[in-house]
Amino acid sequence: MTTPIRKLLVANRGEIAVRIIRAARKLGIATVQIVSEADREMLAARMADEVIEIGPPAAAKSYLNVGNVLDALRRSGADALHPGYGFLSENAQFAKAVTDMGRIFVGPDAGTIERMGDKVNARQAAIAAGVPVVPGSEGRLDDARAALELAEAIGYPVMIKAAAGGGGRGIRVVRSAEELAAAVPQAIAEATAAFGDGGLYLEAYIENARHIEVQILGDGETVVHLFERECSLQRRRQKVWEEAPAAALPAALRAELCASAVRLARSVAYRGAGTMEYLYDPDRNAFYFIEMNTRIQVEHPVTEMVTGVDLVCEMLLIAGGRKLSMAQEDIRCDGHAIEVRINAEDPARNFFPSPGPIDRLQVPSGEAIRFDTGFDAGSRVPPYYDSLVGKLIVSGSSRALAIERLRQALEELDIGPVATTIPLHRALARNADLLDGNVSTQWLERWLAENALSS
Ligand code: ADP
Ligand code: ADP
Ligand code: MG
Repeated sequence: MTTPIRKLLVANRGEIAVRIIRAARKLGIATVQIVSEADREMLAARMADEVIEIGPPAAAKSYLNVGNVLDALRRSGADALHPGYGFLSENAQFAKAVTDMGRIFVGPDAGTIERMGDKVNARQAAIAAGVPVVPGSEGRLDDARAALELAEAIGYPVMIKAAAGGGGRGIRVVRSAEELAAAVPQAIAEATAAFGDGGLYLEAYIENARHIEVQILGDGETVVHLFERECSLQRRRQKVWEEAPAAALPAALRAELCASAVRLARSVAYRGAGTMEYLYDPDRNAFYFIEMNTRIQVEHPVTEMVTGVDLVCEMLLIAGGRKLSMAQEDIRCDGHAIEVRINAEDPARNFFPSPGPIDRLQVPSGEAIRFDTGFDAGSRVPPYYDSLVGKLIVSGSSRALAIERLRQALEELDIGPVATTIPLHRALARNADLLDGNVSTQWLERWLAENALSS
């Protein structure tokens, strides 16, 4: 049964809204963009066929306001909704409300989001599918005593994580029993306030880990992988620079990693685009599943650059009822791609958010260069949402050539007067450790502690 989507509500903002509109256009799907009062003039609103205003600037009153978004969906006459990333993209109740209205939610069904979007449930699904996880708790931790016993068994340092966490939030490293006893009640209170769910779990803290993740696509029956990405360069556990493929991963391990992601997705009959995130421990040459994101990810373009697959189009086709158009043998990974996140943050002032006007937006062009943004010259970065201005993506036949191209592209890229993270990326693109591919998830924070940057 095929239900091709005719009209799509874009339930997000910024660069990903633009990205979704482009994919919809390619497929001949009409678009309706929701906007908060602060986003009336944003690029995606000017590109969409229709615009519906859904509330005041604060995300809680607009993009996160389930009632208002559903109301817009009803009024729009759209037969489908794409949630993008962040906001309501991994909210199972929201996904259910959309389908209860007889509309298509572009993503997995609510049951799968509940099973895989909750990090404790996902760990259990991984264990059941024979995918290695970081040593840690089996279920949610009820109290500090249970946490202490478990930490004793695993050995310090350990990580306390929120079951509903995301975006690098709700995670803390604890190095002793005293620290753990104090941290558990704080973490419960914080997770309750931030995610409306105080559920916690515990994992061994893997030192010198690398973050490697596998992109998958499923149609409910067949699952394929589109190889891996490496996102080890992080600040505050948020990715700032991403690559495909991973810089230095033994071929056998890579095959095992990708196979494990397919196995896990298959075990839940996954439908849509998703990512299995892992930590890779080079000292032990082992990988551990950490979480699944049941949505499109910020860094999806690097996979698109090396495989030639349009992931957002695939999402829309699958949501419309089509079976996967490609078999695993058809998917190849050619060359190397790198994405750097350009945020409106001031590198000279500890990455303090720097919203404000964009008068200059000079973007390099070329076949192997892509710039995904939600802004153009004359726009303003509003202070209410995350600080992503755009993503510069380059590719090359080798990693060294991709970095060389990135260096040149960053010289040409000019955004202002808002302060951005361009100076950070210019410095990183020249760094010897990074050129060697010799980094871990803690590398960037250490480097930042020793190196001053200007705006
Ligand atoms: P990715 O996993 O795609 O690399 P990030 O982890 O950077 O993406 O998150 C994507 C976006 O979603 C960011 O804007 C982030 O702030 C937001 N986000 C992620 N998880 C949550 C959450 N649980 N609640 C609110 N926002 C979230
Ligand atoms: P989020 O949902 O916020 O993305 P993740 O579970 O994906 O949370 O973890 C985010 C980052 O935190 C990882 O990319 C990694 O850098 C770090 N991290 C998570 N779990 C561990 C762990 N057990 N040991 C070491 N680092 C970890
Ligand atoms: Mg993650």
